Amino acid sequence: MADIGVIGGSGLYDLDLLQEVETVTPSTPYGDPSGPITVGTMAGHRVAFVARHGSGHRLLPSEVPYRANIFALRALGVRQIFAISAVGSLAERYTPGTLVVPDQLVDRTKGIRAGTFFGDGVVGHVPMADPYCSRLRKDLLSTGVTDGATYCCIEGPQFSTRAESNLYRSWGLDLIGMTAVPEAALAREAQLCYASLALVTDYDCWHDSAASVTVDLVAQTMRANLNAAREVLTTAITQADPDVRCTCHTSLTSAVMTDPALIPDETRTRLGLSSWQPQH
Ligand SMILES: [Zn+2]
Repeated sequence: MADIGVIGGSGLYDLDLLQEVETVTPSTPYGDPSGPITVGTMAGHRVAFVARHGSGHRLLPSEVPYRANIFALRALGVRQIFAISAVGSLAERYTPGTLVVPDQLVDRTKGIRAGTFFGDGVVGHVPMADPYCSRLRKDLLSTGVTDGATYCCIEGPQFSTRAESNLYRSWGLDLIGMTAVPEAALAREAQLCYASLALVTDYDCWHDSAASVTVDLVAQTMRANLNAAREVLTTAITQADPDVRCTCHTSLTSAVMTDPALIPDETRTRLGLSSWQPQH
């Protein structure tokens, strides 16, 4: 039904750029996605859109059904995902209003999110050295947005203390948000290309001359820059190749440790391992 997925973050709750729209509500082995998935045509592609926090923004970052969202998109045929998110800036150069394509990720969540499709008797370890698809990042970067930043994912829902913000800065982290973990890792386990477009909305709370982050500040900057984000997304989707072959699509080839004879067929299908043969 769709070849490209878009996960909308704070401020992006629908994709009015889609035409010939239909709405689907798939159920998954991991429960329901964040909300109905809108499927429509855009720039020659069939695009599936889901609002990460649900319509009306009702799901905390810790409550988002990340596995159901990724599973449902894959079940619709999606092989590449653009994820949009609002982030705070931990570095002077990422000014509010900047659109950034992160290239690295640090997990500061608290381990309470379901973060893998493995388990229940099947052990797998996917490579995450480069957590974002380099090919899909190029589609976003072709629009001239800022290249490269390390995204620090915190649990939330509270914003950071000033001491935490300064600690992350001392580690060289650039952006702070609450949703890239486990979304990026789940996309990798689902063998999907995944790249993120981050809209900087504030300077978190470390900056001496800027107001500390509030929900009002995030929403205000988001509204002011939403059209720019939509333009970048449109251009990136226009350039995306529907028939692309990418290393992301074979990320499980050398990832599974479990004896293949012990993996039930149902589990193979659920994990996307139907055609998988062990490499060792
Ligand atoms: Zn890829």
